[in-house]
Amino acid sequence: MSNLTATSVDVAVIGAGFAGLQAALDVQKAGLSYALIEANDRVGGKTLTTDLGSIDGVVELGPTWINNVTQPRITSLVEGYNLTTAVQYLEGLGVFFSSNGTAIAAPAGSIPESATEEELAKLEAILTLTELEGQKFDTERPGQWVNGSAPLLPDTSLGKFMEEKGIEQGSFAYTFLTASHRTIFGLDPSEVGMHYLLDLLKQCHGWQSLTGDHAEGAQYLWVPEGIRAVAEHMANDLRHGTVSLGDPVTHIFQANSSTTVRTKSGRNITAKKVILTAASHTYTHINFTPALPRSKRELAINTLRGRTIKTLITYRSPWWRELGLLGKFTSAGKGPITTTWELSYNNTGLYALAIFSAGADYDTFVNGTTALERQAAMLDDLAGIFGTAVGQSKKDVVYNVVEYLERDWYEEPYIESSPIASIGPGDFARLAPALRDVVGHVHFSGTETASVWKGYLEGAVDSGNRAAKEVIELLGRN
Ligand SMILES: Cc1cc2nc3c(=O)[nH]c(=O)nc-3n(C[C@H](O)[C@H](O)[C@H](O)COP(=O)(O)OP(=O)(O)OC[C@H]3O[C@@H](n4cnc5c(N)ncnc54)[C@H](O)[C@@H]3O)c2cc1C
Repeated sequence: MSNLTATSVDVAVIGAGFAGLQAALDVQKAGLSYALIEANDRVGGKTLTTDLGSIDGVVELGPTWINNVTQPRITSLVEGYNLTTAVQYLEGLGVFFSSNGTAIAAPAGSIPESATEEELAKLEAILTLTELEGQKFDTERPGQWVNGSAPLLPDTSLGKFMEEKGIEQGSFAYTFLTASHRTIFGLDPSEVGMHYLLDLLKQCHGWQSLTGDHAEGAQYLWVPEGIRAVAEHMANDLRHGTVSLGDPVTHIFQANSSTTVRTKSGRNITAKKVILTAASHTYTHINFTPALPRSKRELAINTLRGRTIKTLITYRSPWWRELGLLGKFTSAGKGPITTTWELSYNNTGLYALAIFSAGADYDTFVNGTTALERQAAMLDDLAGIFGTAVGQSKKDVVYNVVEYLERDWYEEPYIESSPIASIGPGDFARLAPALRDVVGHVHFSGTETASVWKGYLEGAVDSGNRAAKEVIELLGRN
């Protein structure tokens, strides 16, 4: 697929994730010439569908889910390429494992009966207030408020707010909020700025939508062919001779009328406009001449990298289903598990659990450990939570593993953050306005710059559309 021939184009698109692929397709549709330049040796960015060794099937080590109600852009790509979707398995009970080692079960999306009224009132207050305050954010103009009415909640963090509201460690509310926050951001509730979270809540239609696996939840549908099929179809729709893989951009030199993009191998591509889709924390890999303005530099330096490792474990039998569980374990315990989901491929006889270890769970899991030590720690944690929920005598099934796969996204070259890059406490109003600022001929894209579903595939496609529109208009095409 790496076949770039041109040395002079209208638009150079840097990064072949969903943002870059979409931007290149839009630019092509407008009749402009372009080059799509990717550091890694494949297209798709954070998407990583992996072939299983034991059966003819695939699993997702990167993104999995889409929603056909709230995410029209990615849905239309999936449907447009005639790919199928499967509904997330939702029968049975989920398990919440608290930081003091207790396990409580509840149907998907519902509150456990054992949660106290006082605890639920505190949780409800946090969820409602953050959603209401989120409405004040102008998602089209990052860092600004609708009608200038600033939020009442200060830009501290969800962790601080939980403390102020008296959410106690060990409670259901603590487990739910901590694990959800870690899974969404790859960072602990004390690390991400409250205003970054509020803006995300507005972009993603609130907590139920963000954390839900139901018909309007972000974890509702997945693509059995593998989400990589979408990226491959998009790449196949690009004109021959337009893609360069495995050759990172190292320099962007801007002159008055055009820009030169130089890659590690020494290739120079002259472009009238550049669309940079890499997330801001990776700008450090590129030497900009002239240097980036201070606002962009500050953004790049202060962007927080999410810490997530995703593990896929496959089994011959769905031991969780057999005991009335849906394979969703949500944990604030000391082990590596933050959240799990079942991802099983009907009619293949293989059942999978997808496991996120994020934020502080990532730190303890990954720090100085070998792959085999991590595998042992993961299975022990899973067995411990399962055993606490259904009885210790039943937990041995957890160790009957067929395949064990993991991907550390924090260490992934040129990506280096997952699932999303964030802005910390007190920094949103100062840093966010620079997200989409154009610098000379360079336009900025990538999911973190989106006005809908930032951090998600939908946001990546939205940001590719937006940046392409900017350059197409400037180059006089419609
Ligand atoms: C484990 C995990 C689970 C997720 N789950 C979901 C999910 O279920 N649903 C969902 O919607 N989203 C999910 N996401 C998020 C989703 O994957 C991202 O939002 C989306 O893929 C981002 O696309 P992007 O194009 O903006 O960025 P990326 O995919 O990061 O693409 C940026 C590209 O730029 C390239 N690049 C960087 N620097 C350079 C350079 N100097 N030169 C050339 N190329 C460069 C990178 O190699 C990369 O390919 C998940 C992510 C992860 C990691």
